[in-house]
Amino acid sequence: MTMAAERVTRYLSKPARRVLSGDIGGTNLRLAVVKQGVIERDIHVSMKEFSSAAELATRVALEISSLDLDGVKLGGIGFPCPIDGSGEPLFLPPNLTFGFNGFIKALTIASGLSIFGFNDARAAVMGEAMFGAGKSHDVVIWHGIGTGYGFAIVDGENEIFPSAAEGGHIKVVNPILDRSARECGCGARGCAEPYVSGTAMSKRYRELTGKDLDGKAVGEAFLAREKMAVKVVFEAMAHLAMAISTGHALTLNGIHVLGGGVAQIGEPLLDTLRMKLRTPGVVSWPEKNDLAKNVVLSELCDNAGLLGAAVLAEGSA
Ligand SMILES: [Zn+2]
Repeated sequence: MTMAAERVTRYLSKPARRVLSGDIGGTNLRLAVVKQGVIERDIHVSMKEFSSAAELATRVALEISSLDLDGVKLGGIGFPCPIDGSGEPLFLPPNLTFGFNGFIKALTIASGLSIFGFNDARAAVMGEAMFGAGKSHDVVIWHGIGTGYGFAIVDGENEIFPSAAEGGHIKVVNPILDRSARECGCGARGCAEPYVSGTAMSKRYRELTGKDLDGKAVGEAFLAREKMAVKVVFEAMAHLAMAISTGHALTLNGIHVLGGGVAQIGEPLLDTLRMKLRTPGVVSWPEKNDLAKNVVLSELCDNAGLLGAAVLAEGSA
């Protein structure tokens, strides 16, 4: 049996449990009850409505009371930031105006459930590795491109970078040699995130044209072959190719799955990325690796994080 088959079979052989699952993004918060890879019902709330972790915990406790929580004893929540050893989110995510410190404790008390916090890239890679595009691959590397950018890895049954998964802050431009390397919300320069994310595409588009388009609109303009939008997406995919090549150097095999809002641009985005990956010099041992073939679109899209957070919560209880 392959490691991928063992990972999936072992999980599915356990008694099925209903689990509260949450995914906190830069724009929206989603909450759901999940059972073995199936979302029973979910709720969306705009993150614009909150200005503190305490406010958010109170609202989440209220919202989940409208879900059928019969038999639910535990929950897993994905956050767009690293998580400390006790499961609490660490420091302010670059793309939000407030941090989540104390959120897990507050929600545990308010809900009466055992709640665990996870980095959202870690939750999404587990979802995709268990139920999506990665389920028949031993090594799965998930790239989430949305308001921010991050990547995380599942290797066999074990995750690499188990607690942080802040792959978005690997450097694609050297800030020591190039002071024009873009500033990242993490305090460094030259990280992948300010080159690859939807926010980065929006900023670059404004720089080139003086016009304000959000990441989604830049994607639409790219599909309509608007010249500057094509340039912006080509640049972003060239930088993503660097991050993917780094992920490949860490794992030497595996399937790279593209998720997040920007990935919803779809096949034309994937084709652009594949073209960048096939540029000579990008991939090591090119005669043995056609890395471009191992890059695919997410099968679970927005649901990857919710499904994965439930699996991780079950493994933590
Ligand atoms: Zn960074």
